[in-house]
Amino acid sequence: MNKCRAEYIWMDGHMPTQKLRSKTRVLDNPIDSLKDLPLWGFDGSSTNQAVGNDSDCMLKPVYKVPDPIRGDSDLLVMCEVMNPDGTPHRSNSRAPLVTIAEKYKEQEAWFGIEQEYTLFEGRNPLGWPEGGYPAPQGPFYCGVGADEVFGRDIVEEHLELCLDAGLQVSGINAEVMPGQWEYQIGPLGPLESADQVWLSRWLLYRISEDYGVSATLHPKPVKGDWNGAGAHTNFSTKAMRCKGGIKIIEEACEKLGKKHDEHIAIYGAHNEERLTGLHETCSIKEFRYGISDRGASIRIPMQTANDGFGYLEDRRPAGNMDPYKVCAKLIETTCS
Ligand code: ADP
Ligand code: MN
Ligand code: MN
Ligand code: MN
Repeated sequence: MNKCRAEYIWMDGHMPTQKLRSKTRVLDNPIDSLKDLPLWGFDGSSTNQAVGNDSDCMLKPVYKVPDPIRGDSDLLVMCEVMNPDGTPHRSNSRAPLVTIAEKYKEQEAWFGIEQEYTLFEGRNPLGWPEGGYPAPQGPFYCGVGADEVFGRDIVEEHLELCLDAGLQVSGINAEVMPGQWEYQIGPLGPLESADQVWLSRWLLYRISEDYGVSATLHPKPVKGDWNGAGAHTNFSTKAMRCKGGIKIIEEACEKLGKKHDEHIAIYGAHNEERLTGLHETCSIKEFRYGISDRGASIRIPMQTANDGFGYLEDRRPAGNMDPYKVCAKLIETTCS
């Protein structure tokens, strides 16, 4: 019989940064639609989501893609965590995004998320000399050659898996710090982009296992004169993408400036180590926007300024941010 292995993936209750968990459900028949995937319980007391004497939480399948590792009839299934009574669990940040996305859906928000991450082998970034440092930053960004980039086999395999799963990856590149890489997801609507970022992260962790390497999204994995890892969030509404949209983009930047602290509060833990004003960042204590300015909080891309319409790039989110929260906040602040 053609069984289906469905990998149920969810966010745990770990603080301050939620982590991914997953377990496999073997189903007797191939699955066509999301509603054919059953609800499934798990032990919330082992994931910081419940206490031992009342430990059951519920996984509700909300988004599925083909599993590019196991095979065509197998699935990766993103789940929301629910309480036993069917209400969203407090750790469930997707449910609020569903509400906000629905409320502002006629504005047709799009997101393109740049996910930066760092590969580690043991305690060192991949390719770094044991207990020491590589040459200073400079040649590594978009580099080529065994002395410039480390981990390309993993990065290429990750890209292939994402594409096989149908995720909308728009590009990859080696980053400024050696051992650090980036891929971009989007542009897509709020739920699709955020679900795909989480699934692509799961695939990154999963495939790194096969190489004995671990990927981290920590915004400042190495202290000192080394670039941090962000998750620049590119954002537009239909009005921003149409003629004259630059005015709407500038209005959005003004609104974002008034809510800077609220945004920073949900843009990822340890982000203060990254947003120092150095290394292509704006200080966490300031808010600035500008055309083509990679030292600003929000960059308006040159092309957008030239065309008079397009999108903005929020450069503040950390690599470990929760895209459900970031997308919800950007829509809430700029669309209302
Ligand atoms: P950077 O120059 O900052 O490195 P990238 O090319 O890495 O930019 O990422 C830009 C992201 O913005 C891509 O994921 C792209 O798909 C996305 N993007 C392009 N146009 C839009 C748009 N109108 N709205 C939202 N995102 C967009
Ligand atoms: Mn980029
Ligand atoms: Mn980058
Ligand atoms: Mn960017």
